[in-house]
Amino acid sequence: MKTIGLLGGMSWESTLTYYRLINEAVRDRLGGLHSAECVLYSVDFEPIERLQSAGSWDAAGAILADAARRIESAGADFLVLCTNTMHKVAPLIEAAIEIPLLHLADATGEAVRSAGFATVGLLGTRFTMAEDFYRGRLVERHGLEVLVPSEPERELIDRVIFEELCVGKCLDRSRGRYLEIIARLAERGAQAVILGCTEISLLVEPADTSVPLLDTTAIHAERAVDWALA
Ligand code: GLU
Repeated sequence: MKTIGLLGGMSWESTLTYYRLINEAVRDRLGGLHSAECVLYSVDFEPIERLQSAGSWDAAGAILADAARRIESAGADFLVLCTNTMHKVAPLIEAAIEIPLLHLADATGEAVRSAGFATVGLLGTRFTMAEDFYRGRLVERHGLEVLVPSEPERELIDRVIFEELCVGKCLDRSRGRYLEIIARLAERGAQAVILGCTEISLLVEPADTSVPLLDTTAIHAERAVDWALA
């Protein structure tokens, strides 16, 4: 089994989910007392979020590149960056290490394609929904049509992520708003909706809606186990 390097803490609420899903998948696939070989480096999210909001992406990328180097020297065979948003600085991280990065947008694009969807909605932080590092990669590398919510809806989604989900709050009111936005994306033609932020599955589950949901945390964790056991 290869050693999975997890770069987490963004937020730690969803890093917990990664750790559980990865270990459950290894147990289910190998049986017995098997569990994942992994190294976890979990950052303090507050300074990272401040750098995001200030647009200081190179500084945030330098912190994550340093963490990635530590993960590599601790023996990881590949890197899993446990946040969609910080894939904005994936090139800076990749340049700092020799081990490969399991890019979340690629894992997601492949999962969308193998589920047979061509037009999908995308929920995530304001950066993930509006910018090209993620949405553009789904379009260009995976040939998907990607619909995003309206600007006021994007603001609401982003606010709930940072003010509620990243601090462990799951409110019924916010779940209701998310479900309305998911329904509107489906009305506009989305065959499925990507939960493109690693905390959203803490709030919304497949049972809450008839629209198929693609949870990036689960997709990334499964793919990490594929790589570990390949
Ligand atoms: N976990 C989130 C994501 O998947 C948001 C936190 C962040 O900005 O990194 O995008």
